[in-house]
Amino acid sequence: MNVLPEWELMAPESIDEVRALRAHHPGSRFLGGGTDLVVNLRRGIGDPPAALIDISRVAEMKGISVDGERLRVGAGVTIRELADDPRVRAGFPGLAAAARSIAGPTHRHMGTVGGNLCLDTRCIYYNQSEWWRAANRYCLKYGGEICHVAPKSRVCYATFSGDLAPALAILDAAEVEVAGVEGARTLPLESLHTGDGERYLALEPDELVVAVRARRPAALRTGYDKVRVRRSIDYPLAGVAAGVVREGDRLTDLRLAFTGTNPRPLRLRGTEALCGGPLDDAGMERLSGLVRRQVMAMRTTFTSGHYRRHAAGVLARRLVRRLFDGV
Ligand SMILES: Cc1cc2nc3c(=O)[nH]c(=O)nc-3n(C[C@H](O)[C@H](O)[C@H](O)COP(=O)(O)OP(=O)(O)OC[C@H]3O[C@@H](n4cnc5c(N)ncnc54)[C@H](O)[C@@H]3O)c2cc1C
Repeated sequence: MNVLPEWELMAPESIDEVRALRAHHPGSRFLGGGTDLVVNLRRGIGDPPAALIDISRVAEMKGISVDGERLRVGAGVTIRELADDPRVRAGFPGLAAAARSIAGPTHRHMGTVGGNLCLDTRCIYYNQSEWWRAANRYCLKYGGEICHVAPKSRVCYATFSGDLAPALAILDAAEVEVAGVEGARTLPLESLHTGDGERYLALEPDELVVAVRARRPAALRTGYDKVRVRRSIDYPLAGVAAGVVREGDRLTDLRLAFTGTNPRPLRLRGTEALCGGPLDDAGMERLSGLVRRQVMAMRTTFTSGHYRRHAAGVLARRLVRRLFDGV
């Protein structure tokens, strides 16, 4: 790890102040809890910013509100606050479980919801020291010309590994509120991540996420599970969020989303074909097929892409079965 470079640190308390600061410091970066950004800066990853705008004190980005089935979480809410909120635990158990699974207690204390949604994509050729990356002539994501994971590709395959995005993506009307120098807008959560590991966010450089909103269908049972190298502290090698509606013995709604596998959070398509009847072995086999076709894990971690795709399928089947059985 390098010594941190010098920078100016600013701590605005309102979105209007953030806008004004950002307009005067176009080379600045937003700082949430710093648990991803500061680590990357100490590794010499990314151009060192001239200034950091600490957005953890911005009033409009604080607070969780639950109104019946509707949820709004400020981007400045910490992961710990989200995980511990009794209304989130009761009404959005999949989201609370995803939050509880993030990193370790000290990261959850500092890390924010906005930082988690805007988490940089990860790869064994990127999350390395400067000398290691230099020895490998860097990579497409930063400083180099090829993607070592897929050398013929013009697109970077670094993986999105945030745990909250899939847990939010299986809810209805998941949207992010965004503010920039020019004004405010709302973006479907599904459009926030581009699928290109290099330019992974569909935000303008001056834009920040202010809050995320979603709605839970009344009968939806939700859950979250992941595999990781160090169970007490690690990013997902594969993570899955699931939502299930059961009516009698019939599965009537099934939603799944993955993280840790593709360059963006992946909402699994085609699950409606599994609904309408009981959750039997044939249905589970079809679910495995959907996962195999859509989860595109590459060799971006020390474990193989094949292992992560397989693990994603196992996790998905287990979680769906558990939610369907209500255990
Ligand atoms: C050892 C270790 C283990 C980890 N394990 C996990 C894990 O299991 N799961 C997981 O998901 N993460 C993990 N993380 C990453 C990180 O701790 C969390 O993702 C955390 O939620 C990031 O939030 P932050 O506020 O600290 O982000 P920061 O580091 O402050 O920011 C991350 C990025 O988002 C940008 N940003 C921050 N807030 C906003 C905003 N509101 N709008 C626009 N851009 C913004 C920053 O400019 C930066 O580019 C781990 C980190 C470490 C060091």
